[in-house]
Amino acid sequence: MTPPAKLAIRHPDRSTAHQIAGVLTDLIEPAPDALTIFEDGTAWLIEAYFEAPPADPGQLVDNIANMLAIPVPEFGMENVPDENWVALSQAALPPVYAGRFTIYGSHDLERVGRGLNTILIDAGEAFGTAHHATTYGCLLEIDRLTRRRVVRNVLDLGTGTGVLAIALQRALPSARLIATDIDARSVEVAAANARANAMIGPMDQRLQFACAAGLAAPAIRERAPFDLVVANILAGPLIKLAADISRNVETGGSTILSGILVRQAPEVIATYCAHGFALTGHRRYEEWSTLTLVKRDGA
Ligand code: SAH
Repeated sequence: MTPPAKLAIRHPDRSTAHQIAGVLTDLIEPAPDALTIFEDGTAWLIEAYFEAPPADPGQLVDNIANMLAIPVPEFGMENVPDENWVALSQAALPPVYAGRFTIYGSHDLERVGRGLNTILIDAGEAFGTAHHATTYGCLLEIDRLTRRRVVRNVLDLGTGTGVLAIALQRALPSARLIATDIDARSVEVAAANARANAMIGPMDQRLQFACAAGLAAPAIRERAPFDLVVANILAGPLIKLAADISRNVETGGSTILSGILVRQAPEVIATYCAHGFALTGHRRYEEWSTLTLVKRDGA
Protein backbone atom coordinates (compact mmCIF):
# COMPACT_ATOMS: atom_id res chain seq x y z
CA MET A 1 0.00 0.00 0.00
CA THR A 2 1.15 3.55 -0.69
CA PRO A 3 2.11 5.35 2.52
CA PRO A 4 0.13 8.40 3.63
CA ALA A 5 1.29 11.51 1.80
CA LYS A 6 1.06 15.25 2.00
CA LEU A 7 0.41 17.43 -1.00
CA ALA A 8 1.65 20.98 -0.37
CA ILE A 9 0.48 23.78 -2.66
CA ARG A 10 1.75 27.35 -2.35
CA HIS A 11 0.01 30.42 -3.61
CA PRO A 12 0.79 34.09 -2.95
CA ASP A 13 -2.84 35.19 -2.99
CA ARG A 14 -5.07 34.49 0.01
CA SER A 15 -8.36 34.25 -1.80
CA THR A 16 -6.98 31.99 -4.55
CA ALA A 17 -5.42 29.78 -1.87
CA HIS A 18 -8.82 29.42 -0.24
CA GLN A 19 -10.38 28.60 -3.61
CA ILE A 20 -7.76 25.91 -4.13
CA ALA A 21 -8.52 24.52 -0.66
CA GLY A 22 -12.23 24.55 -1.52
CA VAL A 23 -11.71 22.68 -4.79
CA LEU A 24 -9.50 20.13 -3.03
CA THR A 25 -12.11 19.57 -0.34
CA ASP A 26 -15.23 19.47 -2.45
CA LEU A 27 -14.61 18.91 -6.11
CA ILE A 28 -11.83 16.44 -6.71
CA GLU A 29 -11.14 12.76 -6.19
CA PRO A 30 -9.62 11.52 -3.99
CA ALA A 31 -10.66 14.09 -1.39
CA PRO A 32 -7.97 14.68 1.23
CA ASP A 33 -8.44 13.19 4.69
CA ALA A 34 -7.25 16.38 6.34
CA LEU A 35 -6.45 19.80 5.02
CA THR A 36 -4.84 22.82 6.58
CA ILE A 37 -4.21 26.26 5.19
CA PHE A 38 -1.96 28.93 6.64
CA GLU A 39 0.34 31.78 5.76
CA ASP A 40 3.97 30.83 6.07
CA GLY A 41 5.51 34.26 5.73
CA THR A 42 5.78 34.58 1.97
CA ALA A 43 2.75 32.72 0.67
CA TRP A 44 -0.33 30.77 1.60
CA LEU A 45 0.41 27.15 2.12
CA ILE A 46 -2.24 24.51 1.65
CA GLU A 47 -1.38 21.09 3.00
CA ALA A 48 -3.63 18.21 2.04
CA TYR A 49 -3.08 14.88 3.77
CA PHE A 50 -4.09 11.70 2.00
CA GLU A 51 -4.21 8.27 3.57
CA ALA A 52 -4.53 6.92 0.03
CA PRO A 53 -2.64 9.48 -2.03
CA PRO A 54 -3.59 10.37 -5.62
CA ALA A 55 -1.67 8.37 -8.24
CA ASP A 56 -0.75 11.46 -10.22
CA PRO A 57 -0.49 14.60 -8.07
CA GLY A 58 0.70 16.67 -11.04
CA GLN A 59 -2.49 15.84 -12.91
CA LEU A 60 -4.54 16.63 -9.83
CA VAL A 61 -2.95 20.07 -9.45
CA ASP A 62 -3.42 20.67 -13.22
CA ASN A 63 -7.11 19.87 -12.83
CA ILE A 64 -7.44 22.32 -9.95
CA ALA A 65 -5.70 25.03 -11.97
CA ASN A 66 -8.02 24.33 -14.91
CA MET A 67 -11.12 24.47 -12.75
CA LEU A 68 -10.10 27.83 -11.32
CA ALA A 69 -8.61 29.12 -14.59
CA ILE A 70 -5.32 30.00 -12.88
CA PRO A 71 -1.72 29.15 -13.76
CA VAL A 72 -0.55 25.87 -12.24
CA PRO A 73 0.61 26.75 -8.71
CA GLU A 74 3.83 25.62 -7.06
CA PHE A 75 3.33 22.25 -5.41
CA GLY A 76 5.14 19.27 -3.91
CA MET A 77 4.18 15.82 -2.73
CA GLU A 78 5.91 13.96 0.06
CA ASN A 79 5.35 10.82 2.03
CA VAL A 80 4.63 11.13 5.72
CA PRO A 81 5.71 7.66 6.86
CA ASP A 82 5.26 6.68 10.48
CA GLU A 83 4.45 10.20 11.52
CA ASN A 84 1.29 11.14 13.25
CA TRP A 85 0.00 13.43 10.57
CA VAL A 86 -2.70 14.78 12.75
CA ALA A 87 -0.02 15.80 15.23
CA LEU A 88 1.94 17.35 12.39
CA SER A 89 -0.70 19.97 11.89
CA GLN A 90 -1.12 20.54 15.60
CA ALA A 91 1.91 22.75 16.19
CA ALA A 92 0.36 25.92 14.83
CA LEU A 93 -3.21 24.74 15.22
CA PRO A 94 -4.28 25.95 11.80
CA PRO A 95 -7.88 25.50 10.75
CA VAL A 96 -9.04 21.93 10.28
CA TYR A 97 -11.35 21.05 7.43
CA ALA A 98 -13.43 17.99 8.22
CA GLY A 99 -16.18 17.33 5.71
CA ARG A 100 -18.27 20.47 5.54
CA PHE A 101 -16.90 21.78 8.84
CA THR A 102 -13.99 24.13 9.39
CA ILE A 103 -12.74 24.24 12.98
CA TYR A 104 -10.48 27.19 13.76
CA GLY A 105 -8.92 29.06 16.66
CA SER A 106 -9.59 32.73 17.36
CA HIS A 107 -6.13 33.58 15.92
CA ASP A 108 -7.65 32.58 12.56
CA LEU A 109 -10.92 34.47 12.87
CA GLU A 110 -9.86 36.96 10.17
CA ARG A 111 -8.82 34.20 7.84
CA VAL A 112 -11.74 31.84 8.21
CA GLY A 113 -14.60 34.09 9.17
CA ARG A 114 -17.98 33.19 10.53
CA GLY A 115 -20.21 30.94 8.54
CA LEU A 116 -22.72 28.17 9.00
CA ASN A 117 -20.05 25.49 8.95
CA THR A 118 -17.16 27.30 10.61
CA ILE A 119 -16.70 26.55 14.30
CA LEU A 120 -14.49 28.57 16.61
CA ILE A 121 -12.75 26.45 19.24
CA ASP A 122 -9.67 27.59 21.12
CA ALA A 123 -7.33 25.01 22.59
CA GLY A 124 -7.66 25.13 26.36
CA GLU A 125 -8.70 23.11 29.34
CA ALA A 126 -11.23 20.86 27.63
CA PHE A 127 -10.43 18.20 25.04
CA GLY A 128 -11.43 18.64 21.40
CA THR A 129 -10.00 21.08 18.84
CA ALA A 130 -10.49 18.70 15.87
CA HIS A 131 -6.73 18.28 15.57
CA HIS A 132 -7.00 14.92 17.23
CA ALA A 133 -7.81 11.97 14.96
CA THR A 134 -10.70 10.86 17.17
CA THR A 135 -12.52 14.21 17.01
CA TYR A 136 -11.71 14.50 13.33
CA GLY A 137 -13.14 11.03 12.64
CA CYS A 138 -16.35 11.94 14.48
CA LEU A 139 -16.72 15.17 12.51
CA LEU A 140 -16.35 13.31 9.20
CA GLU A 141 -18.90 10.76 10.31
CA ILE A 142 -21.32 13.45 11.52
CA ASP A 143 -20.93 15.16 8.15
CA ARG A 144 -21.71 11.94 6.30
CA LEU A 145 -24.53 10.67 8.49
CA THR A 146 -26.45 13.93 8.70
CA ARG A 147 -26.54 14.21 4.92
CA ARG A 148 -28.25 10.86 4.64
CA ARG A 149 -30.58 10.54 7.58
CA VAL A 150 -33.17 12.57 9.39
CA VAL A 151 -31.91 13.02 12.94
CA ARG A 152 -34.07 14.74 15.55
CA ASN A 153 -32.83 13.92 19.01
CA VAL A 154 -29.11 13.76 19.77
CA LEU A 155 -26.83 13.06 22.73
CA ASP A 156 -23.16 14.06 22.65
CA LEU A 157 -21.70 12.04 25.52
CA GLY A 158 -18.34 13.36 26.73
CA THR A 159 -18.59 16.68 24.96
CA GLY A 160 -15.19 18.18 26.00
CA THR A 161 -14.99 21.53 24.20
CA GLY A 162 -18.45 20.97 22.73
CA VAL A 163 -17.01 20.79 19.23
CA LEU A 164 -19.13 17.82 18.11
CA ALA A 165 -22.30 19.20 19.68
CA ILE A 166 -21.82 22.50 17.88
CA ALA A 167 -21.17 20.69 14.59
CA LEU A 168 -24.32 18.63 15.14
CA GLN A 169 -26.32 21.73 15.94
CA ARG A 170 -25.16 23.30 12.68
CA ALA A 171 -25.80 20.18 10.62
CA LEU A 172 -29.26 19.52 12.09
CA PRO A 173 -31.26 22.73 12.12
CA SER A 174 -34.34 21.12 13.59
CA ALA A 175 -32.90 18.58 16.05
CA ARG A 176 -32.81 18.75 19.87
CA LEU A 177 -29.39 18.18 21.36
CA ILE A 178 -27.98 17.49 24.78
CA ALA A 179 -24.24 17.48 25.42
CA THR A 180 -22.83 16.08 28.66
CA ASP A 181 -19.51 15.57 30.34
CA ILE A 182 -18.38 13.94 33.56
CA ASP A 183 -16.04 16.90 34.04
CA ALA A 184 -17.77 20.08 35.26
CA ARG A 185 -15.11 22.38 33.83
CA SER A 186 -15.55 20.85 30.36
CA VAL A 187 -19.28 21.53 30.55
CA GLU A 188 -18.56 25.20 31.31
CA VAL A 189 -16.06 25.42 28.46
CA ALA A 190 -18.47 23.70 26.06
CA ALA A 191 -21.33 26.02 26.99
CA ALA A 192 -19.06 29.04 26.54
CA ASN A 193 -17.95 27.72 23.16
CA ALA A 194 -21.57 27.21 22.13
CA ARG A 195 -22.29 30.84 23.07
CA ALA A 196 -19.21 32.04 21.18
CA ASN A 197 -20.46 30.16 18.14
CA ALA A 198 -24.10 31.10 18.51
CA MET A 199 -25.90 31.83 15.30
CA ILE A 200 -28.71 34.29 15.36
CA GLY A 201 -32.03 32.53 15.57
CA PRO A 202 -33.99 29.92 17.43
CA MET A 203 -31.53 27.09 16.73
CA ASP A 204 -29.36 28.15 19.64
CA GLN A 205 -31.95 27.23 22.22
CA ARG A 206 -31.99 23.63 21.07
CA LEU A 207 -28.63 22.72 22.57
CA GLN A 208 -28.46 21.95 26.31
CA PHE A 209 -25.49 21.04 28.47
CA ALA A 210 -25.33 18.93 31.60
CA CYS A 211 -22.64 17.60 33.88
CA ALA A 212 -23.21 13.85 34.18
CA ALA A 213 -21.33 10.57 34.26
CA GLY A 214 -22.68 8.13 31.70
CA LEU A 215 -26.36 8.07 30.85
CA ALA A 216 -28.07 7.90 34.23
CA ALA A 217 -28.67 11.65 34.68
CA PRO A 218 -32.30 12.85 34.72
CA ALA A 219 -31.57 15.37 31.93
CA ILE A 220 -30.61 12.45 29.68
CA ARG A 221 -33.41 10.15 30.80
CA GLU A 222 -36.00 12.83 30.04
CA ARG A 223 -34.89 13.05 26.43
CA ALA A 224 -34.22 9.39 25.65
CA PRO A 225 -34.50 7.48 23.43
CA PHE A 226 -32.17 9.23 21.02
CA ASP A 227 -31.81 8.67 17.31
CA LEU A 228 -28.12 9.54 17.51
CA VAL A 229 -25.62 9.17 20.36
CA VAL A 230 -22.07 10.35 19.71
CA ALA A 231 -19.45 9.29 22.25
CA ASN A 232 -15.77 10.01 21.77
CA ILE A 233 -14.52 8.59 25.05
CA LEU A 234 -12.19 5.57 25.20
CA ALA A 235 -12.61 1.86 24.50
CA GLY A 236 -12.79 0.81 28.17
CA PRO A 237 -15.57 3.20 29.21
CA LEU A 238 -17.39 2.65 25.90
CA ILE A 239 -17.50 -1.09 26.56
CA LYS A 240 -18.86 -0.45 30.06
CA LEU A 241 -21.47 1.95 28.65
CA ALA A 242 -22.68 -0.39 25.87
CA ALA A 243 -25.82 -1.59 27.67
CA ASP A 244 -26.79 1.96 28.70
CA ILE A 245 -26.14 3.39 25.25
CA SER A 246 -28.16 0.60 23.67
CA ARG A 247 -31.11 1.25 26.01
CA ASN A 248 -31.04 4.91 25.06
CA VAL A 249 -30.90 4.55 21.26
CA GLU A 250 -34.14 3.88 19.42
CA THR A 251 -34.49 1.16 16.79
CA GLY A 252 -32.98 2.40 13.55
CA GLY A 253 -31.03 5.04 15.46
CA SER A 254 -27.25 5.27 15.34
CA THR A 255 -24.27 5.67 17.55
CA ILE A 256 -20.88 7.06 16.56
CA LEU A 257 -18.11 5.82 18.84
CA SER A 258 -14.54 7.06 18.89
CA GLY A 259 -11.48 7.22 21.10
CA ILE A 260 -10.86 3.58 20.22
CA LEU A 261 -7.46 2.28 19.17
CA VAL A 262 -7.69 0.28 15.94
CA ARG A 263 -6.56 -2.84 17.79
CA GLN A 264 -9.35 -2.36 20.36
CA ALA A 265 -12.06 -1.95 17.72
CA PRO A 266 -12.97 -5.66 17.38
CA GLU A 267 -13.81 -5.88 21.10
CA VAL A 268 -15.89 -2.71 21.04
CA ILE A 269 -17.71 -3.87 17.89
CA ALA A 270 -18.41 -7.30 19.40
CA THR A 271 -19.74 -5.74 22.61
CA TYR A 272 -22.07 -3.34 20.78
CA CYS A 273 -23.27 -6.07 18.40
CA ALA A 274 -24.11 -8.17 21.47
CA HIS A 275 -26.17 -5.21 22.66
CA GLY A 276 -28.32 -4.98 19.55
CA PHE A 277 -26.23 -2.89 17.17
CA ALA A 278 -24.90 -3.62 13.68
CA LEU A 279 -21.72 -2.01 12.40
CA THR A 280 -22.33 0.29 9.43
CA GLY A 281 -19.10 2.27 9.27
CA HIS A 282 -15.48 1.98 10.41
CA ARG A 283 -13.04 4.82 9.76
CA ARG A 284 -9.39 4.44 10.65
CA TYR A 285 -7.03 7.35 11.08
CA GLU A 286 -3.57 6.73 12.35
CA GLU A 287 -4.05 4.28 15.19
CA TRP A 288 -7.62 5.41 15.91
CA SER A 289 -10.97 3.92 14.87
CA THR A 290 -14.29 5.71 14.62
CA LEU A 291 -17.25 3.32 14.49
CA THR A 292 -20.80 3.89 13.36
CA LEU A 293 -23.40 1.38 14.48
CA VAL A 294 -27.13 1.19 13.95
CA LYS A 295 -29.64 -0.26 16.41
CA ARG A 296 -31.26 -3.32 14.87
CA ASP A 297 -34.95 -4.11 14.67
CA GLY A 298 -36.16 -6.15 17.59
CA ALA A 299 -32.92 -5.66 19.53
N1 SAH B 1 -16.33 15.17 22.25
C1 SAH B 1 -15.04 15.82 22.29
C2 SAH B 1 -14.25 15.47 23.52
C3 SAH B 1 -13.80 14.04 23.64
S1 SAH B 1 -12.71 13.76 25.03
C4 SAH B 1 -14.27 15.49 21.03
O1 SAH B 1 -14.72 14.65 20.27
O2 SAH B 1 -13.22 16.08 20.81
C5 SAH B 1 -13.71 12.74 26.06
C6 SAH B 1 -14.55 13.51 27.03
O3 SAH B 1 -15.41 12.57 27.67
C7 SAH B 1 -13.77 14.20 28.13
O4 SAH B 1 -14.12 15.56 28.19
C8 SAH B 1 -14.17 13.44 29.40
O5 SAH B 1 -14.25 14.27 30.55
C9 SAH B 1 -15.53 12.87 29.04
N2 SAH B 1 -15.94 11.61 29.70
C10 SAH B 1 -15.16 10.55 29.98
N3 SAH B 1 -15.90 9.57 30.54
C11 SAH B 1 -17.18 10.01 30.61
C12 SAH B 1 -18.42 9.46 31.10
N4 SAH B 1 -18.48 8.24 31.62
N5 SAH B 1 -19.53 10.23 31.00
C13 SAH B 1 -19.48 11.45 30.47
N6 SAH B 1 -18.34 12.03 30.01
C14 SAH B 1 -17.21 11.31 30.07
